[in-house]
Amino acid sequence: MKKRAIYPGSFDPITYGHLDIIERGLLLFDEIIVAVADLVGKETLFDIEERVRMVKRTTKNLKGIIVEPFDGLVVDFASKNNIKIILRGLRMISDFEYEFQMALTNRRLAPDIETIFMMPNEKYSYISSRLIKEAASLGGDVSDFVPPYVRKALMKKFKIT
Ligand code: ADP
Repeated sequence: MKKRAIYPGSFDPITYGHLDIIERGLLLFDEIIVAVADLVGKETLFDIEERVRMVKRTTKNLKGIIVEPFDGLVVDFASKNNIKIILRGLRMISDFEYEFQMALTNRRLAPDIETIFMMPNEKYSYISSRLIKEAASLGGDVSDFVPPYVRKALMKKFKIT
């Protein structure tokens, strides 16, 4: 039987940190569904179609990756797809509290689903979509952190030439 996991997130936008976790995940799982959250009521820079498109493009050469939008609870989306493992990335201690709370909440909601964490290469351990958006909005060069088309999309959003 195929070992499958779900990697949920906002991916607003996808970064090399996310990609690092996806590649590490493929060492453990045959198939990973990258589930892009359609966050109703939460502001994102990129809409759901843009975020899904960028994740697809970033992962197009990887075997075993499926990219799908979802709304509602991660555990419901996992159950619907018959997946028992949620994959998340842990960067710094600062991620820990939030991730810990979320993993335990999800366990309460769906006791048969486990969350596992992987750590990225340390060179990505401090990058976040939020900081990349901030840097890009101020004209910073984010090419070390995101693929070229994501950088271009950021520059377009912030009208930087
Ligand atoms: P969310 O809004 O659900 O936190 P994100 O898109 O920010 O979604 O992140 C999805 C997952 O990827 C989270 O587990 C997050 O900790 C992880 N992640 C984000 N950036 C990195 C990174 N640079 N290195 C490792 N994991 C990361």
